[in-house]
Amino acid sequence: MSLRTSVSSALVALALAQPLAAQSVADRYRADANRIIDAALKDSTAWNRLAEMTETYGNRLSGTPALEQAIDWVIAKMKDDGLQNVRGERVMVPVWARGSESAQLVSPRAQNLPMLGLGGSIATPPAGITADVIVVSSFSDLGAKAAQAQGKIVLYDVPFTSYGETVQYRGRGAIEAAKVGAVAALVRSVTPYSQRTPHTGGMAYDSTVRRIPAAAITVEDAEMMHRMQTRGERIRVKLVMSAKALPDAPSRNVMGEIVGSEKPDEVVVFGGHIDSWDVGRGAMDDGGGVVVAWEAVRLLQRLGLKPRRTIRVVGWTNEENGGRGGQGYRDAHRADVDKHVLAIESDGGVFKPQGFSFGGSDAALEILKQIGTLLDRIGAGTIVKGGGGADIAPIMALGVPGLGLNVDGTKYFWYHHTEADTIDKLDPHEMALCVATMAVMAYVVADMPELLPRAAAATR
Ligand SMILES: [Zn+2]
Repeated sequence: MSLRTSVSSALVALALAQPLAAQSVADRYRADANRIIDAALKDSTAWNRLAEMTETYGNRLSGTPALEQAIDWVIAKMKDDGLQNVRGERVMVPVWARGSESAQLVSPRAQNLPMLGLGGSIATPPAGITADVIVVSSFSDLGAKAAQAQGKIVLYDVPFTSYGETVQYRGRGAIEAAKVGAVAALVRSVTPYSQRTPHTGGMAYDSTVRRIPAAAITVEDAEMMHRMQTRGERIRVKLVMSAKALPDAPSRNVMGEIVGSEKPDEVVVFGGHIDSWDVGRGAMDDGGGVVVAWEAVRLLQRLGLKPRRTIRVVGWTNEENGGRGGQGYRDAHRADVDKHVLAIESDGGVFKPQGFSFGGSDAALEILKQIGTLLDRIGAGTIVKGGGGADIAPIMALGVPGLGLNVDGTKYFWYHHTEADTIDKLDPHEMALCVATMAVMAYVVADMPELLPRAAAATR
């Protein structure tokens, strides 16, 4: 064979191989993906299961019997479904109890103020704190008014821009207010829309700064008090809170699997957090995240799609007021964390899915974008850089690539951490689309012959 012939036949081989390799992932899995999507869209089990769980057990704050009963229910149902290795992995979680609480406008007129203490806050003295209110519109505004804040209740009236930006006032508002001598902190609820509904959520203290009680009030009442201040009226509020921290208690990360047919020790892990705040019923935050991943696994099983690698669905515990579930998962799986091919988290509500945000190598991103094209027919194929989630962050820090499910977030923060986080806000068809999206992504990555490329781990 001449050199010329061997070169040209190599080029022919290359030309033939190239399109196969380039088309590979998407084209190889198009038929399976279409089956998964078609079957998911005929099914409303996800919505029904979420309704049953959230209406049977209600909200599921860490340390409550309701959370542990919901976990027992998930374990029993996963076993009924025929999932493998169904179990709860023990995690110790912090316990915070709200107790009774109230806020009243005392001056310039008497008015009850709907409120929710922030998770982790200390109590007021039993008789409450009655003090003048100073309204500020930012931390720098607080700095400018520092001299007037001594002995007062600081109210942060900061309009919602993005969650990440606005949530700082909930997170460290009490610390900054205490630094200027305030006796309590009130924060305008972190939401772009309100029907006079207070939104709770986590807050922090700093060991070097005096602890003061902190609570959320409604957008309407924060704006009203801001206008009162502008009109030169004296604003006084009585805040009564009896919240307390209790000793840590045992909880569990709940999980079940489809064990891989060829590489059972390699794992795609996905899910959401099973705990919630102690208001509403924790339907979108984040019962829905757990249930769509669980339904995705059940769907694959029903279709007889057994991937080469293991797919593990996890309901992490204690995301809301501790993050101990994600940390506990990392600690329990330290020895096999290198075998985690991909982690996927859904914790932004199970509204109409749009795709995923990805944290990992560029080489992996290219493959995930190809897989994303399989979801374009339902508008869920957009893969963008820079993602993950609170529960998968601990294993992502050890080098596991991570995806966060992206959904239409228009309404998520309307209901987030409120009494209105209930199943009726969710749509069975949109949830089924989330099931399809999670199932296609998890299945293809778990089944494709090639391993999803990892970036070098930063902190192994
Ligand atoms: Zn959440």
